[in-house]
Amino acid sequence: MQDDNDFREVVMGDNEKSDDTLENKDSNNVNKDNDNNNDNEYEDVCFVCRRPESKAGKMFHMPNNICICDDCMQKTMDAMSQFDYGNFTGNSPFGNPQTPDKSVNNPGFGNFKGFPNISFVNLNDLMGDGTIPGRQRIKKKKTEGESAPIIDLKNIPAPHKIKASLDEYVVGQEYAKKVISVAVYNHYKRVATKTMDEIEIEKSNILLLGPTGCGKTYLVKTLAKLLDVPLAIADATSLTEAGYIGDDIESVISKLLAAADNDVEKAEQGIVFIDEIDKIAKKKNTNSRDVSGESVQQGMLKLLEGTTVEVPVGANSKNAMVPLATVNTRNILFICGGAFPDLDEIIKERLHKSSGMGFNSELKDKYDKDANILEKVTTEDIRKFGMIPEFIGRLPIICPMQGLTKESMVRILKEPKNAILKQYQKLLELDEVRLVFADDALEAIAEKAMKKDTGARALRSIIEEFMLDIMYEIPKDPSIGTVTLTKAYIEGTGGPIIDIRSDNITGRLEDYKEAAGGAG
Ligand code: ADP
Repeated sequence: MQDDNDFREVVMGDNEKSDDTLENKDSNNVNKDNDNNNDNEYEDVCFVCRRPESKAGKMFHMPNNICICDDCMQKTMDAMSQFDYGNFTGNSPFGNPQTPDKSVNNPGFGNFKGFPNISFVNLNDLMGDGTIPGRQRIKKKKTEGESAPIIDLKNIPAPHKIKASLDEYVVGQEYAKKVISVAVYNHYKRVATKTMDEIEIEKSNILLLGPTGCGKTYLVKTLAKLLDVPLAIADATSLTEAGYIGDDIESVISKLLAAADNDVEKAEQGIVFIDEIDKIAKKKNTNSRDVSGESVQQGMLKLLEGTTVEVPVGANSKNAMVPLATVNTRNILFICGGAFPDLDEIIKERLHKSSGMGFNSELKDKYDKDANILEKVTTEDIRKFGMIPEFIGRLPIICPMQGLTKESMVRILKEPKNAILKQYQKLLELDEVRLVFADDALEAIAEKAMKKDTGARALRSIIEEFMLDIMYEIPKDPSIGTVTLTKAYIEGTGGPIIDIRSDNITGRLEDYKEAAGGAG
């Protein structure tokens, strides 16, 4: 009896101290340091049921950064109390898996002395290197007082400033840049002022229409970078109705959360760009269930408008091992983009119908040649294309973008802040070589790119092809001062012009010219 009491005292004593000692022990571990401010931003997640602290309540902290919620702890205790510990004291048939004592004559089984180590499974192993991966942690929600909008109302750049910043990166697309600047300005005004008394400003989700490679994704990426808000880019083609093979619609929010460093609050003010939105148009003449078309549109309705969704943190699908976070999409700006092939035909058809009789043949010609026919798009045309009215209704801003012309291709090559030419020039600058592109060479590159029909995306691959030789040969010869790419080189009828550094002409020059086969 006396012994029993002593034992209890020891156990109690340990428990009372446990908080301190654990904290001390854990202080070396980056993930576990509860005093660490940075760490305090993340919610604890129950190791058993994976619910975060905000759902499951206060956690028990255990060594190796394991947290267990009240419920699971209770269940574990209940389960353990049904366990027969008697067998473990002495001649256990299993022995202690951690420290089998081979020296004892007990073939096949370890010998075990004293109280068993109950962790049959080494929890450390389950956790990889003993730490919860950072990507599966959720940042704690801030209380009302300390939560501040990322973009402060006073600091939202005015639309003309947003556009001016976009101008530095995106060539042309003046209308789209203007529309998007105003929409974003209004959106973040709405976010910053939180709820507006009776006059609730509606969300200004945007639909970008334009051929592939005209800069839809690039425009949104640039915008998110300028505003410093998290951005998730999703592809509508991979989305399916929940329960089917493919990504659930909510996975886009999961991506946004990852882009926001698992900070729910930051994610709730981010931007989601859904590309290839035209691929989820209603399928015509299908007898089977349209799990990747109309159903996806249906599934996105709530998300676009504003709802709370439970999304897995650090994973694409919900399962028992992934913590869930609740994200409100009310203030997330959704931008959808798509090429909408053949939409021009639908527009033309409508225009023909609406034009008066008599002049029809003339008008037909007129619309057929209209390169910017997309600018005349209406919601009716998009509905005809296969988007459901409820979906279009939630994307109130429709913004057509133009296909790129040869001139804009040339400008894209050299004008943006991070233009491809500037990138190569910088690379060669490190070798102290000046790279010059002749104007006619740029035009030749643009012409080649136009033929590929993939928009500005083709430019990089073409330049890369021509730059390969240059990047390979130039570092061989330190005497080279300037390389000029000519039209002849691009068209394959000549070589680049190599100028030698005046202060450093070496004897290898002639050899080099021969090897490169270039004019010098
Ligand atoms: P899409 O319209 O198919 O989404 P992207 O935005 O992905 O096309 O464009 C592909 C690449 O082409 C971008 O990464 C960007 O470098 C370049 N690009 C396209 N349009 C423009 C533009 N208007 N201004 C500058 N670069 C552009």
